[in-house]
Amino acid sequence: MAKVIMNVKLLEMSQNAITLIYVACRQCYSEKFAGDVFSDNLVDLKKQEEFVKNIVASGHMSPLEHVKFSFAIEGVSRALTHQLVRHRIASFSQQSQRYVKEKDFDYIIPPAIQRNAAAKDEFEKLMSVIQQSYTKLLVFLGQDNINGETANQDARFALPQAAETKIVVTMNCRELLHFFQHRCCARAQWEIRYLANKMLEICSEKLPAVFRGAGAKCESLGYCPEGEKFRCGKYPLKA
Ligand SMILES: Cc1cc2nc3c(=O)[nH]c(=O)nc-3n(C[C@H](O)[C@H](O)[C@H](O)COP(=O)(O)OP(=O)(O)OC[C@H]3O[C@@H](n4cnc5c(N)ncnc54)[C@H](O)[C@@H]3O)c2cc1C
Repeated sequence: MAKVIMNVKLLEMSQNAITLIYVACRQCYSEKFAGDVFSDNLVDLKKQEEFVKNIVASGHMSPLEHVKFSFAIEGVSRALTHQLVRHRIASFSQQSQRYVKEKDFDYIIPPAIQRNAAAKDEFEKLMSVIQQSYTKLLVFLGQDNINGETANQDARFALPQAAETKIVVTMNCRELLHFFQHRCCARAQWEIRYLANKMLEICSEKLPAVFRGAGAKCESLGYCPEGEKFRCGKYPLKA
């Protein structure tokens, strides 16, 4: 089992993203046809960017839904993807434990376990036992391929949430802003927070007019809405 490092790669984003958001928004208020505004390129890109920044600041969010980002993600746990797929305004394609055997599965070690020698030892022993049992189950179930289905689908019940997985996710800009508000917050679980921050880094670089200043809710509110019990201290609570 190799050391697992989270890898987040931008596969694709909508082309002409700024112009797409710009014309979608202009269509709401203009007599002109968005199709002509888009192809005629009448407005300078800098001005379009300013317009888009104002859209984001004003909370007129639906034009942002026309621009999408697709990411390939690997080196994350099933515990993370279980949380990720709760976001419904998104598309997902995840590596299947039914079609892909976990012959020598990699796993994610939480930092707190990594730092604690006794906990790490216990954790690694458990992963090793699971691997052995999983492999035995594959052998025991090997003959039992009802309807062509393989033993993987039942043997995987023994696998841990720590098992490494790979997933492709597509979100539009509005959903990404929402995702960042929840998952960049210190209150979010460490692994998905790390992922969200990596995605935010990429989005901010590719489309600063939309994503500069994005992040946990407090970044736009200027105060922490989580209450005394959950605040991280970066921003004060609402006065
Ligand atoms: C810190 C934290 C702790 C959490 N703890 C738990 C937990 O203990 N247990 C648990 O089960 N989950 C938990 N969650 C998951 C959480 O409840 C949401 O399921 C998850 O964050 C997805 O958020 P969402 O529904 O807002 O987003 P999305 O599904 O991405 O939806 C985006 C927005 O679209 C709208 N929307 C989408 N679908 C509907 C719909 N059907 N009806 C109306 N509006 C809709 C809503 O406005 C929603 O906010 C936690 C999340 C966080 C960030």
